[in-house]
Amino acid sequence: MLPQERRVVTEIPGPRSRELLTRRESAVARGLSIMLPVFVERAGGGVLIDADGNSLIDFGSGIAVTSVGNSAEQVAAAVAEQVRRFTHTCMMVTPYEGYLAVCEELNALTPGDHEKRSVLFNSGAEAVENAVKIARAHTGRRSVVAFDHGYHGRTNLTMALTAKNMPYKHSFGPFAPEVYRAPVSYPFREPLPISGEEAAERAIAVIDTQVGADNTACLVIEPIQGEGGFVVPAPGFLPRLAAYCRDNGIVFVADEIQTGFCRTGDWFACEHEGVVPDVVTTAKGIAGGLPLSAVTGRAEIMDAPHAGGLGGTYGGNPVACAAALGAIATMRELDLCARARRTGELLLTRLRQLADRHPVIGDVRGRGAMVAIELVHPGTKQPNPIATQAAAKACHAEGLVVLTAGTFGNVLRFLPPLVIPEDLLAQGLDIVAKALPTD
Ligand SMILES: *Cc1c(COP(=O)(O)O)cnc(C)c1O
Repeated sequence: MLPQERRVVTEIPGPRSRELLTRRESAVARGLSIMLPVFVERAGGGVLIDADGNSLIDFGSGIAVTSVGNSAEQVAAAVAEQVRRFTHTCMMVTPYEGYLAVCEELNALTPGDHEKRSVLFNSGAEAVENAVKIARAHTGRRSVVAFDHGYHGRTNLTMALTAKNMPYKHSFGPFAPEVYRAPVSYPFREPLPISGEEAAERAIAVIDTQVGADNTACLVIEPIQGEGGFVVPAPGFLPRLAAYCRDNGIVFVADEIQTGFCRTGDWFACEHEGVVPDVVTTAKGIAGGLPLSAVTGRAEIMDAPHAGGLGGTYGGNPVACAAALGAIATMRELDLCARARRTGELLLTRLRQLADRHPVIGDVRGRGAMVAIELVHPGTKQPNPIATQAAAKACHAEGLVVLTAGTFGNVLRFLPPLVIPEDLLAQGLDIVAKALPTD
């Protein structure tokens, strides 16, 4: 593994990265924007090495993807071996065992001990789209309910499910019909304190009055919202919604694309409150950086679509499946759920201390290695996206990769690889502390 150290030898981005950025401008479409334009040459564990020889601390994991670390040993070995044997046949043409093994792992690891089936795709958005297709085929109903501050992807149907206009949806409509939005539980931004159950009743009232349970095929929800700002719902919110779905024949789809695979300290975030979803979508952390996604759920729901109704050329590519098996083995062997819980304790403790000294921090929240601070104008709850951008930039300049999030652009989020050494975690937090204004 690469030396696990921060080493800043040029300004960031350095001259070589700036040169590449110029090339990018004439080669890559403007719509793809870059958070921190250092071009990476190597990465491992909790560091990224850029084209100028800087070693940056990684608090982003490529958006919660490299949970097992970059180029993790078992992932790299499994990929190399699979690439030598064969790279593609298409599961729908001539199948291979790796696909089965990944589905078996998913069926065993996702919450609930009922009989399950899985199907594999390439991206998170594709998994969510297919979860909706499956729920519609199973229920014979059309409507889909998503939530305020939710994020589910950038394809047409998932743009409709995603709440935030800019930058995800603006100028890209019209969107898929029969998608409705219900209010979520967002404790920091409730005008009056309200329990999780009450927040669920508020959402249920919207579904009952504006959609109708009998029309609703599925409810799609992130157990902790990701792009929306690491919004952790009040306890009781998810269990009450799951019970409502059960009572009304609605498929409860947990979008665990960002929260899954040990990120929050459990294999899946739904486990925290004992919620057993009917269907789970996964991607991001599943395969140590290779593109793979999945839909896993109750056998009777998953088997509803007709033969040939699901699939895709690359879905469950053999190299990505080999990577997933290597990543899952790593999570098990290193007990990365425990590592995520430990990371969460360190992050939350330190950030709560910082909140006492930095009134710009309005809220500290998260679970496991999925933690964020929400920045406000001191003394109010008014979102402070300017301070958030400034803090992110200041971290970047010091060689710490942090990401922003949130409907109001005022959330600084921390998603370190689960294998990051504790001293790098502490160094990263020192940089965050210096990046925040004190008044
Ligand atoms: C990232 C994300 C998606 C979309 O995944 P892509 O692989 O980018 O299509 C969907 N849902 C959640 C919760 C996500 O975090």
